[in-house]
Amino acid sequence: MSAILRFAPSPTGRLHIGNLRTALFNWLFARREGGLFVLRFDDTDCERSKREFADLIERDLAWLGITPHRVARQSERIALYDAAAEQLKTAGLLYPCFETPDELDRRRKRLAARGLPPVYGREALKLSADERAGLEAEGRRPHWRFLLPNFTDDPFAPTRTDLSFDDLVRGETTIDLASLSDPVLIREDGSYLYTLPSVVDDAEMGVTHVIRGDDHVTNTAVQAALFQALRVPMPRFGHHNLLTTIGGEGLSKRSGALSLETLREDGFEPMAVASLAVLVGMAGAIEPMADLAALETRLDLSAVSASASKFDPAELDRLNREIVHALPSAAVAERLARLGIPDGEAEAFWLAVRANCDKVVDAKGWAEIVYGAVMVPAPADAEEAVFRQAALRLFPAGAIGSETFRAWTSAIKAETGAKGKALFLPLRRAITGLDHGPELGPLLPLIGRERLETRLQQRPENQT
Ligand code: GLU
Repeated sequence: MSAILRFAPSPTGRLHIGNLRTALFNWLFARREGGLFVLRFDDTDCERSKREFADLIERDLAWLGITPHRVARQSERIALYDAAAEQLKTAGLLYPCFETPDELDRRRKRLAARGLPPVYGREALKLSADERAGLEAEGRRPHWRFLLPNFTDDPFAPTRTDLSFDDLVRGETTIDLASLSDPVLIREDGSYLYTLPSVVDDAEMGVTHVIRGDDHVTNTAVQAALFQALRVPMPRFGHHNLLTTIGGEGLSKRSGALSLETLREDGFEPMAVASLAVLVGMAGAIEPMADLAALETRLDLSAVSASASKFDPAELDRLNREIVHALPSAAVAERLARLGIPDGEAEAFWLAVRANCDKVVDAKGWAEIVYGAVMVPAPADAEEAVFRQAALRLFPAGAIGSETFRAWTSAIKAETGAKGKALFLPLRRAITGLDHGPELGPLLPLIGRERLETRLQQRPENQT
């Protein structure tokens, strides 16, 4: 049986790097197994879910190179959930409850005051048919809870019921079903929480593995009970640790913190983001991976840290820098074209400047230095002024090539005696207006004779 994995975001905001960690774990796992990857939108919460967010999520994933084999929306599959809910009702496992949030809150507080865990006491199960009819006649609408299998005969006397599963990340994991409240599966307005639809979909789609954040471990116990109640096979589950900000705060889709959109707009390379999203909190070095195929070889679910991992922006800067320094010009061709770099020179330009770029967008600054108007600082003293005149005079005739810089600097050195920093720094300042930057040799053919001569002749008050 080939593997089927899925990533199931609720389209209530933009994806952040923590969501991406989940998406990539599933995507890379599916890739490795030669399996399929389903993007499923858990959009049964009509108020908060937006089609627009779903579309943007697809776009964010595509930016990372994640292209699902299938896209599904829970909002289009309600009939399947209705059928499952009926099956549970018929079996007496889904029961209507009428408590308001306030009532539930008061009850939880009373339990807490007595030192008891805030577990729902199944009070609604005690309602007689008449009492229910009476409440409905008053206009109250029920929400529906799933009766957890944590008792022998008497649902009001739950007993310890260990539910264990072999977690792909954490190994054997056990949850006592008696420690949980019966989960609400259907809201008062008739809409489904994701819990039941997720089980129905995983079964119907033949999902074989589910990898998700460890905030879902308890849900997995509940859902395991649902798979059993519906008599459908349960996928293998794995729960990875969560990412937090460097300050230790959780990430949220709605707050927009560390959203993929922001990272993209800030000029980060997708593979820098992907490498960090997967490798942080995993044994081994956090290093830039060239592509998703390379990243796939590093996926090791058993090596994921048990505690939360911090997303360190400095780490992302480092990975991005390392990736950019090694990017071939073909990978940035479009972006260079947008900066107005002449087509025939794009490769030479990129190879000349990439080691001085933390982000590809930094090439813009270097394009201005090469092709634009450069303000050359006035010579610091008479000696520098003489140096510039010599440099101008000694600039080799003929086409500017890869040897030009060496020939030129040898000639200047021979005439002025300047060498090392005393030779290169004034030259760099005279040509680029800066004290630092890419190697000058490869820049010369790009800057070209005309601009070079104008810059070397420049009087401080003129700009060329
Ligand atoms: N919609 C759920 C979430 O975003 C999906 C959890 C799951 O992967 O099953 O948390």
